[in-house]
Amino acid sequence: MQRTLVILKPDAVTRGITWKIIDRLESKGLKLVACKMVMLNEEILREHYSHLVDKPFFPDIVKFMTSAPVILQVWEGVDAVDVVRLMTGVTNARQAQPGTIRGDFAMSVARNVIHASESPEIAEQEIKRFFKEEEIFSYKRLDEDMLYEEDEK
Ligand code: UDP
Ligand code: MG
Repeated sequence: MQRTLVILKPDAVTRGITWKIIDRLESKGLKLVACKMVMLNEEILREHYSHLVDKPFFPDIVKFMTSAPVILQVWEGVDAVDVVRLMTGVTNARQAQPGTIRGDFAMSVARNVIHASESPEIAEQEIKRFFKEEEIFSYKRLDEDMLYEEDEK
């Protein structure tokens, strides 16, 4: 099993569509193992988006990402990182495939409703950044035995 970090961004929260995104991830068969609402700040955004700190649009990212609370989540499943990235769609929501979360719910590059970790290594760092070990839960989904073949788990 693999874990990945999801952030439901301020646009998802303020537009009241967080449940639609959660519905998709749950329906897919991913397991929600951690969840909390927080207000991000510039310090943590500089860490989380360290690859973008020098870009001219970084102040706009900070402004947007601190404009309302976000919902931080950890989702678990086989190949969860790739599965959630595929479901998320490309960064520019206008170019994201219909059927993806960004493709169906957003119209912007910056305001693209969801963050999802891009590799298993980055997912581990991101989960540690936002969650204490005791905030991440271990439980069995009732449909777990039906979702996977024995040799896929
Ligand atoms: N972003 C932006 N303008 C850009 C590129 C990125 O506002 O030109 C924002 C956007 O919200 C994106 C986030 O910065 O989701 C992180 O960028 P990254 O390239 O890591 O894209 P992602 O992994 O989110 O698809
Ligand atoms: Mg990224």
